[in-house]
Amino acid sequence: MLLFTPGPTPVPESVRIAMAGETLHHRTPEFEAIFERTRILLFELLGMDEVLMLASSGTGAMEGAVINLAHSKLLSINSGKFGERFGKIAVAHGIANVEIKHEWDTPATVEEVQAALNTNPDIDAIAIQICESAGGLRHSVEAIASVVKAHNPAIMVIADGITAVGVEKIDVSNIDCLISGSQKALMLPPGLAIMGLSNAAIEKIGSGKGYYFNLATEIKNQRKNTTAWTAATTLTIGLESVLNRIKAEGGLDKLYADTARRAQATREAMKAIGLLLYPTKPADSMTTVRDADAKKIRSTLKEFDVNVAGGQDHIKDSIFRINHMGLIAPYEACWVANAVELALDKMGRRVYDGTANSVFNTVYFGL
Ligand SMILES: *Cc1c(COP(=O)(O)O)cnc(C)c1O
Repeated sequence: MLLFTPGPTPVPESVRIAMAGETLHHRTPEFEAIFERTRILLFELLGMDEVLMLASSGTGAMEGAVINLAHSKLLSINSGKFGERFGKIAVAHGIANVEIKHEWDTPATVEEVQAALNTNPDIDAIAIQICESAGGLRHSVEAIASVVKAHNPAIMVIADGITAVGVEKIDVSNIDCLISGSQKALMLPPGLAIMGLSNAAIEKIGSGKGYYFNLATEIKNQRKNTTAWTAATTLTIGLESVLNRIKAEGGLDKLYADTARRAQATREAMKAIGLLLYPTKPADSMTTVRDADAKKIRSTLKEFDVNVAGGQDHIKDSIFRINHMGLIAPYEACWVANAVELALDKMGRRVYDGTANSVFNTVYFGL
């Protein structure tokens, strides 16, 4: 069965083998050397002034970012489940939260962010997804971040890049905190969160807030190639392996270009067989199709050895999401598009004529 859900994503065999060694003790020169090499690779990946690895799922990094960087009021962008989560974290910690809320297919605009900043002069941080995975939409993070910084450079910009880091090159010039996680574009098992920080963020963090996610404690330790608490040793080994694997396969720019082409080819193939895309501005990490029969399409796809994700909450059964994150062979991605067309035929919706396959290849190979 091809796992084509937008997280978890398949772990490459070489990475699984790298993680199969004996468990290392985390306070040893041997592990610290691995930690240091992985840190160097993360600086290249994120392009930020500081990087941290946290033993938690992605949500832990979101919580750490909010409590350490939003001291008076958070502006959270809610166009889906993950944006909503930023607001819930703030509320759970007694931090005031203003929210810009949209249907899950609609990104936030620069104008409404500007308006929220004008009416709430006490906002000191904004939290936004680069890709909101609930509907696969791409927020205009770069434009929003630049408006925020023009308004007041002291406002911290927290960008959740869990389905964007490793997908596309992110302009971090106005981002203070960039979050990533192991089980999406980084092709690892779940359990490791990654965070990039700007120097301005480090200054604001000061002596830190919280306990487990006190970022000041982590910065101090990780600069010495160790962690405040027990490190996720096996996942760190996996992360070094996966980042080296990306290099061996042609590097980050090639990964970004291939991912963009796969996404484009899949979107065009879906449209060519009469399907509708859900988000008004799709991200390249996944293709989300809106369809009344989404649930049936998903179950029929299993007959063709393809596993894609549905939605959550109110759009649980009315969308399906095809992953594009990671090092994916074009023949697999092409089969997925073909399988959707086969499923439509099987459901009596449209007679199979190979259109999805043909369009995918034409777009992917630029014919
Ligand atoms: C998966 C995901 C998360 C974090 O989820 P965890 O289950 O805590 O790892 C956060 N934001 C986005 C955009 C995601 O896709």
